[in-house]
Amino acid sequence: MRSWPAPDVPRLPVTGPPVRLFDSASHSVVATAPEDAARLYVCGITPYDATHLGHAATYVAFDLLNRAWRAAGHSVRYVQNVTDVDDPLLERATRDGIDWRELAERETELFRQDMAALRVLPPDEYVGVTESLPLVIAEIEQLAAAGATYRVDDDVYYSVASDASFGEVSGMLREEMLHVFPERGGDPDRPGKRDPLDALLWRGERPGEPSWESPFGPGRPGWHIECSAIALEFLGPSFDVQGGGSDLVFPHHEMSAAHSQAVRPQAPFARAYVHAGMVGYDGEKMSKSRGNLVFVSRLRNDGADPMAIRLALLAEHYRSDWEWTDAQLTEAQARLDRWRAAASATAGAPAEAATREVLEALADDLDAPRAVAAIDVWAEASQRDTASAEAPGQIRTLVDAALGVRL
Ligand code: ZN
Repeated sequence: MRSWPAPDVPRLPVTGPPVRLFDSASHSVVATAPEDAARLYVCGITPYDATHLGHAATYVAFDLLNRAWRAAGHSVRYVQNVTDVDDPLLERATRDGIDWRELAERETELFRQDMAALRVLPPDEYVGVTESLPLVIAEIEQLAAAGATYRVDDDVYYSVASDASFGEVSGMLREEMLHVFPERGGDPDRPGKRDPLDALLWRGERPGEPSWESPFGPGRPGWHIECSAIALEFLGPSFDVQGGGSDLVFPHHEMSAAHSQAVRPQAPFARAYVHAGMVGYDGEKMSKSRGNLVFVSRLRNDGADPMAIRLALLAEHYRSDWEWTDAQLTEAQARLDRWRAAASATAGAPAEAATREVLEALADDLDAPRAVAAIDVWAEASQRDTASAEAPGQIRTLVDAALGVRL
């Protein structure tokens, strides 16, 4: 489907260092060693509600990765899905009395506008599950041929016993998996399953629900196989980074990897699994079920500068769990004003140290707070002393290319 317009990325005068990231699977910071084209898959939204700050923090985090890889001299091939048919979307459409396709398109369009406003680089392939039925069906057929599937009534399940490395993405013990699985869409108690952790691949047609023809009967895809099929089609196996929020590590990323690895045991699904922390509000994780969402579009409609929203997100490390407060937006706006004042002066402090520090910080597991601090130091130095000054054009280029903030 249509992505969103790409912001300019100005060319940096220097090359950044190789990028290292915290990999959830190995539980350590690892060197990403992409080829010329680095390959990134980030799980997209289920478009039944507007983009909240938790989403925005995740997509801005992987946007920093995109920019850090580019700064290090790579081209980036970036793929993102849209779960444009799934239970929550259908439930919301029924509740609101509108067509599920209309709801999906409306909320996807709002997401595009939010991402464009935040200067997030668009994926090269932005792919809806409703566009991907042939891919999903072909993957399930391969799993069936490998003996990794079985039926319960009209539904097809994936047997977790068919991937020897199952569990290595999340590192969770079985007990923990059993605890988390039902909270995140799993159905451990369904009679007829071989293992409570087995995941739904194909949901047979239910009355009143959309469905597509397949060799397994009419129905629609499960969530995890959707991302496996789309990532494999557009990136191939063993792509560089599978990204998403930390609530996706299990079962979603574990299962997507397991689906792929059951038919490709020699090739890990992704080389690294990278997860952004959760954003809280009013003492709880921001989530639809808790109803404590702060929407990007609402902040924008209330007059917030999207660059201040982005800067507020950059002030936190992407892996931390943190809590949004309105004061953070005020602070970010004040910081943006200071940076803009310094960058629009005819002369400022030398840019070389700040440039090196920002690129090193980003390459070091996307340490945006350290990068932001480096620009603060530059802005303060520019205000103090302009005697040995240079034109601040390079800082504007740096902040735009590396941090995605237009001054
Ligand atoms: Zn996904």
